[in-house]
Amino acid sequence: MDLNTLLQKSEPRLKGLHPKIRQAAQELIRRAHAQGIFVLITQGLRSMDQQAEIYAQGRTKPGRIVSYAKPGYSYHNYGLAIDYCLLDDCGKAVWTVNHEWRVVGSIAKTLGFEWGGEWSDFKDYPHLQMTFGLSIRQLLAGQRPSVQLDDDACHLTLNGQKLHTEGTLEDGRAIVPVRAFARELGCEPLVGWCNTTGRVLIDGKPLTTTDVRNGHGHAWIKEVAGHLGLGVAWDGATKTVKLSGRVKG
Ligand SMILES: [Zn+2]
Repeated sequence: MDLNTLLQKSEPRLKGLHPKIRQAAQELIRRAHAQGIFVLITQGLRSMDQQAEIYAQGRTKPGRIVSYAKPGYSYHNYGLAIDYCLLDDCGKAVWTVNHEWRVVGSIAKTLGFEWGGEWSDFKDYPHLQMTFGLSIRQLLAGQRPSVQLDDDACHLTLNGQKLHTEGTLEDGRAIVPVRAFARELGCEPLVGWCNTTGRVLIDGKPLTTTDVRNGHGHAWIKEVAGHLGLGVAWDGATKTVKLSGRVKG
């Protein structure tokens, strides 16, 4: 299966997640795909209401028990967890915990996830989470990872001229939609997509910070500008990325 298709299938489930988790989820899909394993993210951020529904199943509602977490007691409720399954060659979901499933669990661990398949009491094979050192008790008390959950807009200028394209600040990095940005700069033909690596290309070079959102490749402005030969400066007072130089292409 095509890597871009795989990334897009999972995208709706990546909304509202902590940016680190979203990026790691995409990287997981890429690395598994490189080994011929197709990963689908089936769950991401879960609201307190959704968690209450899930918790009720097998207790006050029919069905078997699927969760031991009351609302607020799952890392899903804070955008810090995802669930996955595998897809077969026809795109059908595979829920059998086989060798490939475990391979995905170990790839996820190298990306910084904790894998529910290794829990000693209740094994939650589809579950991956990043706690950032925060316990559920701390999260319930209102503590959050230092990186902001909400995207924060920032502006872009080129040689002092304001651009229409905007970036989003995450973890101190401005992330931009690469194609829209390149179009505005008149160098869209330099933008490509590598379906083997699942990364946006500029001038044939893959962007390691590629992040697919709404079907569009985004990346860190510093990396994008670097490939275009542009200088980058940050003005924190106006939240503006100031680009300088001549665009090639
Ligand atoms: Zn889960």
